[in-house]
Order: sequence, then structure tokens, then C-alpha cells
Amino acid sequence: MSALTARSCSKGVSSLTRVPRADLKYGGQGLDFSHQIAMAEELGNITSLGISIAILLQTSMATPALERFGSEELKQRFLVPSIAGDFVACLGVSEPGAGSDVSNIKTRAVLQGGDYIINGSKMWTTSGSQADWMCLLANTSAGPAHLNKSLLCVPMNLAGIHVSRNIEKLGLHASDTVQVFFEDVRVPRQFLIGEEGQGFHYQMLQFQEERMSATALVLTPMANLIRQTADYARGRVLFNKPLLDNQVVHFRLAELATELESLRSLLYRAVGQYMRGLDVTKLVSMGKLKAGRLSREVTDSCLQYWGGAGYTHRALVSRLFRDLRITSIGGGADEVMLSIICKYMDTLPRTKSVK
Ligand SMILES: Cc1cc2nc3c(=O)[nH]c(=O)nc-3n(C[C@H](O)[C@H](O)[C@H](O)COP(=O)(O)OP(=O)(O)OC[C@H]3O[C@@H](n4cnc5c(N)ncnc54)[C@H](O)[C@@H]3O)c2cc1C
Repeated sequence: MSALTARSCSKGVSSLTRVPRADLKYGGQGLDFSHQIAMAEELGNITSLGISIAILLQTSMATPALERFGSEELKQRFLVPSIAGDFVACLGVSEPGAGSDVSNIKTRAVLQGGDYIINGSKMWTTSGSQADWMCLLANTSAGPAHLNKSLLCVPMNLAGIHVSRNIEKLGLHASDTVQVFFEDVRVPRQFLIGEEGQGFHYQMLQFQEERMSATALVLTPMANLIRQTADYARGRVLFNKPLLDNQVVHFRLAELATELESLRSLLYRAVGQYMRGLDVTKLVSMGKLKAGRLSREVTDSCLQYWGGAGYTHRALVSRLFRDLRITSIGGGADEVMLSIICKYMDTLPRTKSVK
């Protein structure tokens, strides 16, 4: 994404945040965005993060664009049952050939008469085997990559939709992940979210909420793990003294706890600015980057102190080691976050290599 595009993608933020989150009118609680972050933090207490991610996928990843830009008819049809919990939503952005490079997706939705005809496939679709509808990003014209895409609500029971078997993953075993194929799938033109050609822009905005929620989600598991590891190390006696009495161990846990609180503060700052309508792309990207990096540090360091007990499938630390690893990959890999941060760094010289 070019610097220009990254900035233009966030220009709509101020108008967005005025929209009450999960509007009372659609069955929501009418609360502001900070409550979604509080919820994401609380969901981190579920020790099986596949469940937390499936919930956040519904509230903070697949529905924000519909809530903001969808027509009244579309909201009644897809948002209301999703908020009520009667519909499961999924998000179709990534493809086999385009994950980090969203602009390069190949799935097409071509207008024919009153319908879009969809062909292509989506990869890594969380909740895709049970979803009632997909928030789908597709190319709707042959124009420039950032202006030729649209978001569509696609019911998952339509003829021509084929769903793969569940992909076996390193972690998040409680969450299903599939590939979805579209073969001449016909959806009415009215299922378009907002304006045609604005899909990339809408998705970049949707990503901001996804990334803040993903950052919030990892805080609690990391805090719990650091505390549990300290408890374990206090009770584990090695060489005639508790493991925790080795300063190198206690200091390391203290350092990780400090990093964690710094991340929390960065997130809260981003959330506060977002709610005031400011462009938070840089802060959000920094938070997501740090969340991925720190998740890896915390789980790896803690696992070490559990010794062999940590290297078993039943141990919480080993589950978090696997489950949290996705944070550096999903919703924009660490390197994607770094390239966004680079684009927003005023100090960087504008050379040809920095696009
Ligand atoms: C469990 C799981 C659930 C997911 N759920 C969904 C979902 O519900 N909906 C959806 O649309 N997608 C989903 N994804 C997809 C996820 O967002 C992508 O995996 C992610 O964006 C990375 O894309 P990729 O896997 O194609 O990796 P690639 O794009 O091939 O990237 C591979 C690696 O290259 C590196 N890299 C990327 N860009 C750069 C760069 N500029 N410079 C240097 N290195 C770089 C990164 O380390 C990256 O991990 C999910 C993925 C997983 C694993």
C-alpha cells in the first residue's frame, strides 16, 4: 500500500467513530469502541484462544464495515442477526496468492444485470465452515488496485460456494479455518457494502479495529502466563532454593511484565485517539507489531522456566506458545506493520525505494 493510500484509507476515521458501536437500533448495546477493547481483554481469560478469536472475528473483524457503510436493508438482513448471535460471520480477504499483499487479490465479482457473479477463492477463512455469510473483498472492475475492489455480503449457502475441510493448524484448534471456492456465485447488487470501488479503503479501516482488538486480546493471556510462571517458579525447588529466587528468572519476568504494561498503554492511547477521530494507523500498527513480538517473547521465556512440564500439550504455556504465535502473522504480518510504520515515519527520507 502506498503512503498516499495508507493515509487516504484512514481519512474516513473521524466520520466512522461518530457511529455508535453496535447501534441499539440493530440490537447492539450502543456502547463506544473502548468497550470492544475491554471485551477483547476479557476474552483473553478463555484459555482456548480459538474461541476468543472466533468471537472477535464476528464483532471486530467481519462486521465493522457493514455497520458503518452498509445500507439499512443490508444491516437488517446481516448485521441484526449477527449481533443477535443467530448468524455467524466470516471475513474473506486473504487468498492463496495474496495474504500480506491485499491489493493483489484475484477474486472477481462482475456485475451482470442486477447481480454480481463471483469467481475465485479465499484462503484461511476463520469460521468459514459454519458461517452464514461472508464479508467478501473482491475485484469489481479492472481499475487501479486500490480503487477496483468492493466489499460484499455473501450468504454462504449459495449455489457455487464450496468449502474445504478444516485446515490443521499449529494452534487455535478450537477455531475452524478453511478455504472457500466461488464458482459463478450470484449475489444481488444490493448486497454491496457502501460504494463500489471503495472496498480496499473500507477493509483498511476495518483492519484498524481488527488490529486493536488483536492487540487487546493478547494482553490478558500474557499477564496470566507471567503470573502463573512466577507462581510455578516460586514452588519449584532446584539446587535447594526456589527457581524464582534466581534473580535472572525473576528479573526476566519483571521485564516482560513491564513490556506488557507498555503495550497496554500504547493500545489505550491508540483507542483514545481513535475514539476522538484521529488517524491512528501508525500507533495501531506499532501496537500490533509489539503484540506479536511480545507474545513470542513471553511464551518462549515462560515455557523455558516450566522445563519439561512446559513442553507437553496439556500445559497452558505450550498452548499459548502455539495459539499466540498467530499474532505475528494474521491480520497483517509483523513486516507489514513495519512497512506501514515506515510510511508514517516523518524522519524517513523519501527515496524511490520507500513507496
Ligand atoms: C489461523 C489463521 C486464521 C486466519 N483467518 C483469516 C480470516 O478469517 N480471513 C482472512 O481474510 N484471512 C485470514 N488469515 C490470513 C492472514 O491474515 C494471512 O495469513 C496473513 O495476512 C499473511 O498472509 P500469507 O499467509 O499469505 O503470508 P504471505 O503474504 O505469503 O507472507 C509470508 C511472510 O512474508 C513476510 N512478509 C510479508 N510482507 C513482507 C514485506 N513487505 N517485507 C518482508 N517480509 C514480508 C511475513 O513474515 C509473512 O508472514 C488467517 C490466517 C491464519 C493462519
